[in-house]
Amino acid sequence: FDASNGAKGAVGRRLANLGAASVLFYREPIQMVSAKGAWMTAADGTRYLDFYNNVPSVGHSHAAVVEALSAQIATLNTNARYVVSVVDDYIEALKARLPDALSNVVLTCSGSEANDLALRIAFAATGRRGVIVTRTAYHGNTALVTDVSPSALKRGAPPDWVETVPAPGREAYRDDIAGGFSRAVRDAMARLDARGHGTAALLVDSIFSSDGIFADPAGFLHPAAKAVQTAGGLVIADEVQPGFARTGAAFWGFQRHGIAPDIVTMGKPMGNGFPMAGLAARPAHLADFCATTGYFNTFGGNPVAAAAGHAVLRVIEREALQRNALDVGALLLDGLRGIAAGHERITQVRGAGLFLGVDLGDAGAPDAAFTTQVIDRMRDQGVLIGAAGRYGATLKLRPPLCLTTEEAARFLDIFERAVSA
Ligand code: PMP
Repeated sequence: FDASNGAKGAVGRRLANLGAASVLFYREPIQMVSAKGAWMTAADGTRYLDFYNNVPSVGHSHAAVVEALSAQIATLNTNARYVVSVVDDYIEALKARLPDALSNVVLTCSGSEANDLALRIAFAATGRRGVIVTRTAYHGNTALVTDVSPSALKRGAPPDWVETVPAPGREAYRDDIAGGFSRAVRDAMARLDARGHGTAALLVDSIFSSDGIFADPAGFLHPAAKAVQTAGGLVIADEVQPGFARTGAAFWGFQRHGIAPDIVTMGKPMGNGFPMAGLAARPAHLADFCATTGYFNTFGGNPVAAAAGHAVLRVIEREALQRNALDVGALLLDGLRGIAAGHERITQVRGAGLFLGVDLGDAGAPDAAFTTQVIDRMRDQGVLIGAAGRYGATLKLRPPLCLTTEEAARFLDIFERAVSA
């Protein structure tokens, strides 16, 4: 959007207030007023089925989360310099979900901060600077993390301590995704060595959200992770997108690949909309880093965030949302594959749990314009959905984990009409 384009009403006001940094969906952005479960309501009363938003992951305005954080903010909220049992209760509940070796948790306010800190820990632990990421990755918005987020760079290339490798899809690696991806990572390590950087870390979103969603075959990350760790580099699993039960079969995305990351970063769904994020690391790595630089985060791990985060973990458990992601995700995948069988312009359907990608185009030729058309038609039919991938031609399906089978069926029906129109 061009802030000077004279847009009127609510959109014009937003552009006048936020200027060039205003990021809005749709040519005619929607003014939202409320949301509940998997549904959002606009100012004009239109209700939308939300298939895009993985922040309110256990459902918009979930009563248990709202109650927990309201009660906490009415009792105590403060900076991170005091001992507050609500915070330790939460960290212990979170650690119960994490590998035993990663027994220190640092809470932050955003995924960007978590990845920024993870990289700095990796630099300190290895004494190296090189980082490997996938070609269309996004890992956040700090200066450091923008350098390892090729999808955020509108001009130029990442700096020379960053190496990119193609995302692990068939386009790049044909039928040997594990072997091909591992070779690409090893070649990248050799290039970083040749430039004197060495490999500090492989930073990887294990569902490859902005690359276009690549989940199969399960285990394909294992050889690449092993190669990095054998050479003394760290594997940082960026769980901001796949974490917290979304991929169905496991709580974390990296578990799908049987890897043992050295650092796990997390965010988005962690507080169901309350801004919170963090990382888990080995105590020795964190101690090394803190011995030189120290780390303090005023709002990170505040008691209200801890209360919200703990409520999210309880809801996932109580409502069996991981199981729901697996079951309803499988239903959606099946339905999408059925639709794809009758539609030439759907070239591939893939994903895990409630994180699915649908490629649109003609064989071998992704079609971003058609993808935008489908997204617009679905919006007109009351479904919110976004695009991802190198060509912007992959529909990204990421509904709340509480999605019902009826809502999934409704989505499939509207999707089929949108691609057929
Ligand atoms: N990592 C991944 C994989 C992400 O998708 C994002 C946000 N889109 C981030 C990190 C950054 O998180 P935040 O916006 O909370 O800083």
